[in-house]
Amino acid sequence: MKTAPTTIQLNDFKTQWRDIRQDAIAAFERVGESGWMILGSEVKSFEAALARMWGLARAVGCANGLDAIEIALRVLGITPGAKVLTTPLSAFASTLAIVRAGGIPLFADVDESGIVDLNRCETVFREHADVRFFVPVHLYGHAIDLEHLSRLRATFDLSIVEDCAQAIGATSAGRPVGCVGQIAATSFYPTKNLGCMGDGGALLTDDDALADKAQTLRDYGQSAKYEHTQLGLNSRLDEVQAALMRDALLPRLAKQTQRRQHVATRYLAEIDNRALRLPTIPSGSTSVWHLFAFRVRNDRDAFQAHLRERGIQSGVHYPILIPAQRAMNDVPGARSLDALAQARDFCATEVSLPMHPYLSDTDITRVIDACNAWRP
Ligand SMILES: *Cc1c(COP(=O)(O)O)cnc(C)c1O
Repeated sequence: MKTAPTTIQLNDFKTQWRDIRQDAIAAFERVGESGWMILGSEVKSFEAALARMWGLARAVGCANGLDAIEIALRVLGITPGAKVLTTPLSAFASTLAIVRAGGIPLFADVDESGIVDLNRCETVFREHADVRFFVPVHLYGHAIDLEHLSRLRATFDLSIVEDCAQAIGATSAGRPVGCVGQIAATSFYPTKNLGCMGDGGALLTDDDALADKAQTLRDYGQSAKYEHTQLGLNSRLDEVQAALMRDALLPRLAKQTQRRQHVATRYLAEIDNRALRLPTIPSGSTSVWHLFAFRVRNDRDAFQAHLRERGIQSGVHYPILIPAQRAMNDVPGARSLDALAQARDFCATEVSLPMHPYLSDTDITRVIDACNAWRP
């Protein structure tokens, strides 16, 4: 009797645990033995390791990616009602952070890759002198064109927080994401390329003064013990997560990224079906393939059902545009600066295939065969 093939999941945390278990338990034990749980030597040494890996001077651990973006905007001096240009196609957190920092989000359309269209943004900055904050998102693991971003920063004197939650390690023309904006923000939510075993996030910068301010803000706005110089947050990364990441997850990141790139290379080379529009990557970008996001020409539901019948999970990133979310009714002034036609097309037609470092060669082949067997 033939056994049914196992389900190919979007993420595989059980296999990850078998891989990291020894290192993770040693890290956990060390924290327990230390008797120190919050903002101690583990957080410091993880921050140092992360900054070194990234090539930026300072990293500041936070409780999650949402807070990292909010804190970044606040240390850049955002004032209540400041307009912030961003993308309509992302995790809701990109925009929620802007709102929580007191900003008013404005949306411009994305390009073929799904990333906010920098040509469109350039026009916005030229026509609207009151829009000087920018939160671009390196979506799906692809890097936005950093040369263009750098030109925009210089020309319009922008304050930029790069949302790198999906793109840790991605490069554009050889430079890492996060190095053009004043601050890079990232998330360690478990599904991210560098995920912890709970919630976590960080912001990174070359500017010591900004990093110092962020350290104050993440800890109730304390500049010294019981001395509060600002109205901060409770957004601390804890010792356990920092130790797990430094010992078990960060050392595996480079290899795991290569594995994701291998999976993507095979999908790109071997999926051959005119009903599927494979991903476009911004020119000069090396993607770290957080997601393998592409578009189905018609009947996405039927395509996902076809995959499901073959034991293959799939996702949609994202089904609803951020400005169309009901919660946005409560944000006065938030608006879209154009029709968002391309972003709408992503919402209506995008599908994400299984993409994680523990996919076997047979899994990859099964996904490819299922895609190629699809007939709309
Ligand atoms: C995950 C994610 C965030 C938010 O991170 P959390 O740690 O979940 O708060 C922000 N932006 C993008 C693009 C993300 O993918």
